[in-house]
Amino acid sequence: MRQINIYITTFIILTFLALSFSVNANDFVVVLDAGHGGKDYGALGVSAREKDINLSVAKLLGQMINDNINNVKVVYTRDDDRFLTLQKRAQIANEANGDLFISIHTNSLDKRNKKRKTIAGASVYTLGLHRTDENLEVAKRENAVIELEEDYSTSYSGFDPNSAESYIIFELNQNKHLEQSVELASAIQQQFITTAGRKNRGVRQAGFLVLAETSMPGVLVELDFICNPTQEKFLASKSGQKKLAKAIFNAFKEYISHYNIDSKAKDIKLAQNNDNLTTSDDGNIVYKIQFMSASKKVGSKKLFKGLDPIDFYKDGATYKYTYGRTASMQDAQKMLQKVREKFPDAFIIKFQNGKRIK
Ligand SMILES: [Zn+2]
Repeated sequence: MRQINIYITTFIILTFLALSFSVNANDFVVVLDAGHGGKDYGALGVSAREKDINLSVAKLLGQMINDNINNVKVVYTRDDDRFLTLQKRAQIANEANGDLFISIHTNSLDKRNKKRKTIAGASVYTLGLHRTDENLEVAKRENAVIELEEDYSTSYSGFDPNSAESYIIFELNQNKHLEQSVELASAIQQQFITTAGRKNRGVRQAGFLVLAETSMPGVLVELDFICNPTQEKFLASKSGQKKLAKAIFNAFKEYISHYNIDSKAKDIKLAQNNDNLTTSDDGNIVYKIQFMSASKKVGSKKLFKGLDPIDFYKDGATYKYTYGRTASMQDAQKMLQKVREKFPDAFIIKFQNGKRIK
């Protein structure tokens, strides 16, 4: 009995530790939003359904991120076949404190459109006012899901997904995340062509409610056209879905390597840690390894490739980043070897009283 108690206690402690590690305040949070679900099937092919394709690609992408990138937390708006309102999706993203929102959809043309069987290609949207009727049609179709909600007119402040006038608000919508959203959109679009072999339909803008309601950089991808039987086959296949997920994954990886959290608490936290490290040396010489310099403060720990503890000092307008600290030249040599595995140009520098000396 007593042994069982020990087992249980150990289990509880381990679970607690695992939980506290999995919710790391410094994690980059990416919200993956598989469009449609449940009673909302999205666009339909001959046999494939948009909601299933979106979900498969979202889950494959989430798995790739979890398996390959540290310090990123994946949050799904849905990970099974369920109906969610657009507001609920945005709420999940906002409450998770998301750093990035990726909404995954599959394109289609209207039943009466003659190009239905031949149109092909991927496009990535950021929030904005549509420049063409074609973009407006895509937004109308993706926003139409709100009509499945009771009293949507009240919930979405009188927004009518079918009226072109309703979309004028997106002209005034000052999207403070536009630059980052476009950066990601361009990277995904590029990858859709190179990695997933899709025809290029370009980065576009339109008024997607789900992007308007999320308070973080975000994009909405249209993988390809389910109304074209050839593309439908690709979209419904596991190999096609893997290629599409890999394309978004590659772009995401590229994006977070540039990611700069200038205005976020994460940045402040990082700076505070650095300040603690720069405390007095009591006049002793301290060796550090310099591995990077930048014209502005680096906001993302990602760029340090796992090095910890790091510190920085300012040299004129340049921020110079260092790793570790030791009073022993021998230890510094060992540290240098370690750092050079990640930053081949790293070198040893000397500090005294918090200032670099020659
Ligand atoms: Zn859709």
